[in-house]
Amino acid sequence: EAKRRGRYTYAFYTQALTEGSTRRLELEQALKEGIDRDELVLFYQPVFDVETGQCVGAEALVRWEHPDRGMISPGTFIPLAEDTGLILPVGCWVMTEVARQVRAWLDQGLDPGRVSFNVSSQQLHNAPFVDLLEETLRSSGVPAGSLEVELTESGLMAEETIGLLNRIRGTGVDIAIDDFGTGYSSLAYLRRFPVEKLKIDRGFVEGVEDSPEARSIVEGVVAMARALGLRTQAEGVETREQLTVLSALGADLYQGFLRGRPVPAPIYERQWLITDTGRSVSDGV
Ligand code: C2E
Ligand code: MG
Ligand code: MG
Ligand code: MG
Repeated sequence: EAKRRGRYTYAFYTQALTEGSTRRLELEQALKEGIDRDELVLFYQPVFDVETGQCVGAEALVRWEHPDRGMISPGTFIPLAEDTGLILPVGCWVMTEVARQVRAWLDQGLDPGRVSFNVSSQQLHNAPFVDLLEETLRSSGVPAGSLEVELTESGLMAEETIGLLNRIRGTGVDIAIDDFGTGYSSLAYLRRFPVEKLKIDRGFVEGVEDSPEARSIVEGVVAMARALGLRTQAEGVETREQLTVLSALGADLYQGFLRGRPVPAPIYERQWLITDTGRSVSDGV
């Protein structure tokens, strides 16, 4: 019965989002309460080096786990959070929680590599973002090199962006551009941005085996990244064939269901951090 109700309510809530009705307000209220009740949870997806196959880090991805509504995916509630300003408390929670988790792993003698988290453009352009990042680093004692922020292209075109990115870089935290290729980044901008990594959108990775266009785009992104001294990370790698092509095209890193789905921290830890060979599980596939 609980399960049925959970599924029903989930469908209800998903529908509410597309309706723009008073139900949206209910969902907004529920999310507000959810944040207070600590119902958000981070899943971690492993990131691998294409050449060695080693797990070199993870991406933290938020979920909303309501006790009876079940798990709500970020694709469902992040847009609502962005519309209502709730993205600020959500984003703040995510950053604090990533730092807490990385600190906990380091304290256990585990090496999580570099762990990234997503920052929406609204959050980035909200004045205290960099202050919060600095404060989070300070209070958690996490080395800045263990963290990376993922920003989307859409958030990067404003005039004040370079100053913001330079401040983030100044903390020692890496910057990756997420879903690269789907937005409007111009070469001119990219050259001036203190960015370390371009994440090639899953849409291109999906087509890399049989779409010459997708393949050319990936090839172009890799070439451009090389020219600018950036690394490339392919998102959403699901098949061996995709990985083979990406490897031939020179992508540096990848993540995807082929090797690892996003999982809760305790599972991530067992699967990717606590192994006989440390993080070098190169023969996973
Ligand atoms: P994203 O940052 O581009 O994250 C990648 C998404 O692709 C994740 O979906 C991940 O689970 C999914 N994915 C990874 N590998 C594969 C694969 O091989 N196949 C397929 N089909 N999917 C794959 P998820 O976790 O549902 O997140 C969706 C989006 O929600 C994220 O896209 C990001 O834009 C946003 N998001 C997630 N967590 C946060 C957060 O903490 N803050 C903000 N602002 N946005 C977040
Ligand atoms: Mg991301
Ligand atoms: Mg992405
Ligand atoms: Mg994407």
